[in-house]
Amino acid sequence: MELTLTTHAPPVLLVIDDEAVQRLIVSRAAEKLGYTAHGAGSLIEATAWLHGQDADVVVLDLSLREHDGIEVLREIARLERDPVLILISGFDERVREAAARLAVALGLRVAGTIGKPLALDQLMALIAAVPHDKPRSSRAQRMTLTPGMLDAALDAGEIYCLYQPKIRLADRRVVGFEALVRWHSPAFGMIGPDAFIPFAERHGLIDRITVHVLDRALHQLSAWHDTDPGLEMAVNLSPSSLGDLMLPERISDVLAGHGIAPARLILEVTEGALMADYVAAADILTRLRIRGVGIAIDDFGTGHSSLLSLLRLPFSELKIDQHFVMGLLRDPELPKIVGAVISLAKSMDLKLVAEGIESEAVAQRLHDLGVAIGQGYLFAQPLGEDAATALLGHAALA
Ligand code: C2E
Ligand code: MG
Ligand code: MG
Repeated sequence: MELTLTTHAPPVLLVIDDEAVQRLIVSRAAEKLGYTAHGAGSLIEATAWLHGQDADVVVLDLSLREHDGIEVLREIARLERDPVLILISGFDERVREAAARLAVALGLRVAGTIGKPLALDQLMALIAAVPHDKPRSSRAQRMTLTPGMLDAALDAGEIYCLYQPKIRLADRRVVGFEALVRWHSPAFGMIGPDAFIPFAERHGLIDRITVHVLDRALHQLSAWHDTDPGLEMAVNLSPSSLGDLMLPERISDVLAGHGIAPARLILEVTEGALMADYVAAADILTRLRIRGVGIAIDDFGTGHSSLLSLLRLPFSELKIDQHFVMGLLRDPELPKIVGAVISLAKSMDLKLVAEGIESEAVAQRLHDLGVAIGQGYLFAQPLGEDAATALLGHAALA
């Protein structure tokens, strides 16, 4: 398999619009903000371009001449990279918002929508606000990853964790951390989980990574024990691990090895993962809960599972997906949906966590809606051990 690795090239913006003048206006605006801009005048042109290279931002006119922009959304959703979208349309705001919701449902990130005629300052503000958190692969070098390389990286200690704090919204105190895995390759720099976790899953290396991450994270938690004995640690569990019936024993062993009470560990599983083998997942998760380990349903709202079967599993926590959180103040439907999720979680006695909080206004709104715990760049990005330790000394965040 080809693993794409990063170099530091300028960000790339693709504008898809059948009007040449609009393409020019958007391109100039993007270039002023340091982007390399490209234009495509049709669905076919856009598709061909996107399959050849990566864009960080796609500005899409929803009404292309012979196709509609919705078809382009589906094409973009199929790509491995997920560019941030800005949608333009001459239709009224409801149509634009519906298109934006569809894009989010397809798993895409939407920075915002703009009407026509194009307000340049609005467009530039949206482009300027796009975070560059993900590695850019446009000018990336390519290397072929083999299972042996990943195995060797584990042996060499190149696989490690960053820790993102979970914050109690009422008083902004750190209540725990989520361990997020990284690979630091001496040749290629930092590689994120989206690049190598799916590979590890396909090649039978995921259980080794899970145990490694668990071991590192619990080691760190025990190091923080004196500063904060109540701190919790969350670790992501891969879908493929939910077929391994020995998992509860393995996890208990790691917990015992570090002298950590099971209740201080939370395992995060995505809803899509649960439905692949519901019976095995139910078996494993129930046994883990009986042992006292917390189980969070991660990225809630992005899967397509039956709500009923989902809620019959023994969760202790629900993490509202970041797409719902990021659009909260922009999309008038989202507060209603999030409100419904909150009452559902409360009626089932689930701890509520919102991820992807990037602004004070969103943090405040979630708190008002009744969400207890938040995670996101507003408070902190995923941090190395030292930075996370330093954070524990702070009175309150943001
Ligand atoms: P996740 O568990 O939903 O983790 C949240 C992701 O959102 C993290 O990306 C985090 O860096 C990012 N994030 C946090 N706050 C914000 C914010 O305010 N804005 C934005 N835009 N992003 C934010 P990351 O670290 O790249 O991890 C991606 C996914 O990879 C994770 O999603 C998780 O599903 C998976 N993953 C990470 N570590 C592990 C691991 O140890 N094992 C397994 N199986 N999967 C892992
Ligand atoms: Mg997670
Ligand atoms: Mg998540």
